[in-house]
Amino acid sequence: MNALLPEWLNPGPDEASFREMLAPDSRWTLELLAAQSRAITLRRFGRTMTLYAPLYLSNHCSSGCAYCGFASDRTTPRRRLEQEEIRKELAAMKRLGISDVLLLTGERTKAADFDYLRTSVATAAADMQRVTVEAFPMSVAEYRELAEAGCTGITIYQETYDRARYAELHRWGPKKDFLERLDTPSRALEGGIKTAGLGVLLGLADPQEDALMLYRHLRHLGKTYWRAGLSLSFPRIRPQTGSYQPPFTISDHLLARMIFAFRIALPDVELVLSTRESPAFRDGMAGLGITRMSIASRTTVGGYSDTESGDRGQFDIFDDRSAEAFCKALREKNIEPVFKNWEHAYNGPSSAEKS
Ligand code: SF4
Repeated sequence: MNALLPEWLNPGPDEASFREMLAPDSRWTLELLAAQSRAITLRRFGRTMTLYAPLYLSNHCSSGCAYCGFASDRTTPRRRLEQEEIRKELAAMKRLGISDVLLLTGERTKAADFDYLRTSVATAAADMQRVTVEAFPMSVAEYRELAEAGCTGITIYQETYDRARYAELHRWGPKKDFLERLDTPSRALEGGIKTAGLGVLLGLADPQEDALMLYRHLRHLGKTYWRAGLSLSFPRIRPQTGSYQPPFTISDHLLARMIFAFRIALPDVELVLSTRESPAFRDGMAGLGITRMSIASRTTVGGYSDTESGDRGQFDIFDDRSAEAFCKALREKNIEPVFKNWEHAYNGPSSAEKS
C-alpha cells in the first residue's frame, strides 16, 4: 500500500468474506449471492425503488478526463443554464413525475463556479422535493452553504482508486489531485450534507481491486459519520465524444456479483443503477439489490425542454424508456416506484393543481 494513502484504505481484518464474494470462482455462486442479496434488500428496503433524474446545469469544465465527453479539449459547444432556464427544465421534469433531482456540473470554472451552483441549488430546492449535487470538490464551508441552500446529498466518484491509472487518465485540471478528491465525501458530511454517494467508473482499472477500495472507503465513512446516509453507484463506462476505449470489460455477470456482494456486506448502503445500463439489466437487478435508479435521463445541458438537440451529452445512455414505461416494468415485478409526488403524475393532478 502506498504510504501516502490514508490508513483506512489499507486491508482490514474484516474484509475476507467480501473479497471472497467478489471472486468469480468462490464458493459463493451467483445464484447463492442473488438469493441472499434479494432477502436483505427486501428486509431493509421493502418492495420499493426510489427514482431520480439528473439535470446537467453546465458542461463547462477545466479538467481533461480522458473518458469524458465534457473534457476541456473536446469541441463540444459549451453552455450553462441560467436560472430561468433551470426553472423551465425543472418544470419539464416535473411533468414527467420527477421531484428528486441530481444537479451536475463539470469542474469549477468561472462560468460555473460555487456561487452559480449554490444559486442553482436554491432554485431547484424551491421546486423539487429532493436536491442532490454531483459537481466539483468543495471545502467544508462551501458544503455548509450548499446544505443551507437546500442540497441534501452529494455524489462524487473517485473514478478509480488505482493511483497510477488515475494519474494517466486525469490529464490536467483540478481533478488531477487524487487525495483532494478522496477526502471530498468526508468534507461534505462534515459540512452538514446528509448523504454521500461514491463510485468508480467501471472499466478504467481492475474492477475487483476498485471494489475492494470502495468497500474500505464506505466502511470508513460509515464508522466516522454514522448518522450519514451512504450510497454506491455502479457506472460502467459508455461510448462518449472522444471515443475513449477502456482497458477492462465489465461483464453483466461480474457487475451483478459486485452488486450482490455490496448488498450483503453493507446492507444499509443505498445501491444505485443509472440509465447507462440496458433495460434488461436494470429490470433484472430491481429487487435483487439495487434500491435507487435514475429515470428518463438526459445527459445534455437543457435536454429536458430541448429534446430535438443532436448533442450527445456527457455519454450515451442505454435505457431510454419513458418514465411511464419504466414504472410499468417495475410494477410488473411487484416493485413500487417511489418519487415523493409520484401519485400525482400517474393519478392525474390534485384538485389544487387543477384549480
Ligand atoms: S468527468 Fe467531470 S471533471 Fe472530468 S472532464 Fe468530465 S465533466 Fe470535467
